Amino acid sequence: MAGIPYPEINDLRSLVRFSSDDGLIWLDQNRMVLMHAAALGELRKELITSLGTEQARRVLTRMGYAAGVRDAELARKIRGKQSLKDAFVVGPQLHMLEGSVQVEAVRLEMNAETGEFDGEFIWHNTWEADVHLKEFGHADAPVCWMEIGYASGYTSAFMGRFILFKEIECAATGTNHCRIVGRPAEAWPDADAYLPYFEEDSILGKLLELRDQVDQLRSTLCQRRPATNLIGASSGFQGAITLITKAAATNVTVLLLGETGVGKERFARTLHELSARQAAPFVAVNCAALPHDLIESELFGVEKGAYTGAEHSRAGKFERADGGTLFLDEIGELPLAAQAKLLRALQEGEIERLGDDRVRKVNVRLVAATNVNLHDAVKEGRFRNDLYYRLNVYPVTIPPLRERASDIPLLVDAMIKRFCALHDKKLLGITDKARRALSNHNWPGNIRELENTIERGVILAPQHDWIELEHLFAGPVRADDAPVGVGADGELRAGEAQDTIALADALLQHGRSLDDIEDMFIRHAVAQAGGNLASAARHLGITRPQLSYRLKKRARTSAAD
Ligand SMILES: [Zn+2]
Repeated sequence: MAGIPYPEINDLRSLVRFSSDDGLIWLDQNRMVLMHAAALGELRKELITSLGTEQARRVLTRMGYAAGVRDAELARKIRGKQSLKDAFVVGPQLHMLEGSVQVEAVRLEMNAETGEFDGEFIWHNTWEADVHLKEFGHADAPVCWMEIGYASGYTSAFMGRFILFKEIECAATGTNHCRIVGRPAEAWPDADAYLPYFEEDSILGKLLELRDQVDQLRSTLCQRRPATNLIGASSGFQGAITLITKAAATNVTVLLLGETGVGKERFARTLHELSARQAAPFVAVNCAALPHDLIESELFGVEKGAYTGAEHSRAGKFERADGGTLFLDEIGELPLAAQAKLLRALQEGEIERLGDDRVRKVNVRLVAATNVNLHDAVKEGRFRNDLYYRLNVYPVTIPPLRERASDIPLLVDAMIKRFCALHDKKLLGITDKARRALSNHNWPGNIRELENTIERGVILAPQHDWIELEHLFAGPVRADDAPVGVGADGELRAGEAQDTIALADALLQHGRSLDDIEDMFIRHAVAQAGGNLASAARHLGITRPQLSYRLKKRARTSAAD
């Protein structure tokens, strides 16, 4: 072997005694354990995966350090009378005898009086690099942590001062062997980066600290993610999410289409949060909720004195959303004058406050939403054609809840969790019967209606008990269908919950014959199914040919009229 020669090892070898009858192995006075390197490797892997690399490294370094300190006691005892170097190399020789590594001494300068130490060693076959390569493949940085701990612990105990060993090459990174250098901590300019691995540390303290961090993150997540209800695996819903995600990367104006209550604002907010504008404001305005004469000042701001009552200058929603996202819900309700200003804001990125001639630049992404057909509104002259085309660049249709009934169980579970937290309730869950009723309901009010229903159920269910059917629906339960009524025009329509008797009463009062009712019923079912006869037939509980036959019969009757 190259490097500094070692003295005979027999004095050390004779210290090892196997006392298998009483289950003991001795190294002089120290009890030892003969372990499988693979088992130790398994423990090491567990430490890394459960505690993370840094903590695992610290634990292993300290474990090696403790072993090194024990072996240093032997050095003085066994070779105290020999030269300082021969006494010192008890460490490397024991390290080999114990099966950890083959040590080749390259440089060894030490002075017992002054405490100076400078040593360099090459390590072959370290078990640690070996198991690391097997478990994790090539490493980016040295990994022989336990062995470095041993070298540092041994030398520090031997020299009576802290000697820090660093691994400057490691076989686990792809070199032929490992190489270590040891010097007093003060001699290393970057010692501070290594010392923490030798220090005691309370994992419990770290865990508590982490738990606080998790709590903090969780609460910010709750505030930042009203997207609780962007839950759903059905294809129509997922399609809408994909479109939103793609739009988030751009500044495109997005038009959200869908019935009332499908969650358009949640989609808009999610789009905002996924976009580069997330740190800037998200401002939501419901155009239908504002009186017409206030809508312009709300959107574009107002200067003091612009009209009677304008006592202060005020920024509008556009200015408040600068840099962020402005969500205009029910945009179809916007008066024509405001539509012209909105168009200008979109085209030029400019607004003027009411009663002001100063032009203000704004950088806002607009997300508009509507539950009416804007195209029809254009034809009827209620909506500007140019604004419609400006808005309709990237339409996203959010399906109604009844078209994604398979998502209802997921939504119900998430909502129960949320409302239980909100109302401080601990519930066992929801009964199968109640769950069935929720899945069969038609949900004309969509997610919002489902949410109201679940919230009501959570509030009414007794603490530590189940949510039952009667906790969910107010009034007589029609679990198998939407609540329906008869409008003033005599047509069937979704409306206030009404029981069957009231419905029959209403029909009789309108003087409807049985044929009339059948006719109306069929037309309604076909309309509800969007003209899909198979689906309409299913809802009517008849076959598609039966439905076709009745429709033809109806057509013949009306042609004969
Ligand atoms: Zn190594």
